[in-house]
Amino acid sequence: MPTNGNVNRLQGQVAIVTGSSSGIGKAVAQAMAAEGASVVVNHSGRSAEAAEQVVASIKAAGGNAIVIPADVSNEDEVKKIFAETIKSYGTVDILVNNAGLQKDAAFVDMTLEQWKTVLDINLTGQFLCAREAAREFLRRGIVPAKSKAAGKIICMSSVHEVIPWAGHCNYAASKGGVMLLMKSMAQELAPHKIRVNSIGPGAIKTPINRSAWETPEAERKLLTLIPYGRVGEPSDIGLAAVWLASDESDYVTGTTLFVDGGMTLYPGFATGG
Ligand code: NAD
Repeated sequence: MPTNGNVNRLQGQVAIVTGSSSGIGKAVAQAMAAEGASVVVNHSGRSAEAAEQVVASIKAAGGNAIVIPADVSNEDEVKKIFAETIKSYGTVDILVNNAGLQKDAAFVDMTLEQWKTVLDINLTGQFLCAREAAREFLRRGIVPAKSKAAGKIICMSSVHEVIPWAGHCNYAASKGGVMLLMKSMAQELAPHKIRVNSIGPGAIKTPINRSAWETPEAERKLLTLIPYGRVGEPSDIGLAAVWLASDESDYVTGTTLFVDGGMTLYPGFATGG
């Protein structure tokens, strides 16, 4: 669990974290619960046991959480996440659009199915969840005792919203899409006091990229891309997400916060170009 001093920055708020049975989403769910939020732990439907363990860890730390399985690329299932959340907790204050995956292939070998699966989950899934969240935020409006904003949406993007990635065209296209989806939503929703931002993680140790950090050789190679000299931990993202969801970032909207140890500083240019 991240140590964040437990200052209850999200007290009384309800957070849906998509894809929070594992990796970054799990750390975000735990960090938000540690700050007083009631958390919905979502997974695709295939990770029930892992999701229950996340809920158990939150409850053991004195927090509040439930599991709602749903495929974020399915409109009816997304509506179900929100309906069940509102039934259990009354409303939604924070959405973390985190669910995502990779289906890697050389460009010329990439199948339409690999392309569509990644775009459907990583981009359309974020649209569907954000739309339902914004509808609920607009319906409810600001509750001053909880937050200065009517609602907060945090999109899990990637350094690959700006760094091209050979062998991962579908993934890079999905994250590039998330960048302008996020900014366009932020522009449209700001007058309604809804804040929309992204986090752009660099390399974080999770199952999605295990082969990139699992062995000492792989980790050494990865570190050549990270000026700060360490691979990221899921809690690095959890703590950033708490800040973006809290009133400490009340004047921040339409921004990607890169949490990447400097990966977007293009370290290959450090010794010339
Ligand atoms: P992970 O594989 O550990 O977790 C992915 C989560 O998404 C799981 O909980 C899984 O159940 C869920 N998921 C997958 N498909 C889903 C669906 N259709 N509906 C609902 N949930 C679904 O991966 P992670 O590294 O924790 O990735 C989380 C997010 O962070 C992704 O959006 C990923 O692109 C992004 N990201 C990760 C890294 C990294 O280095 N790990 C870097 C940049 C961005």
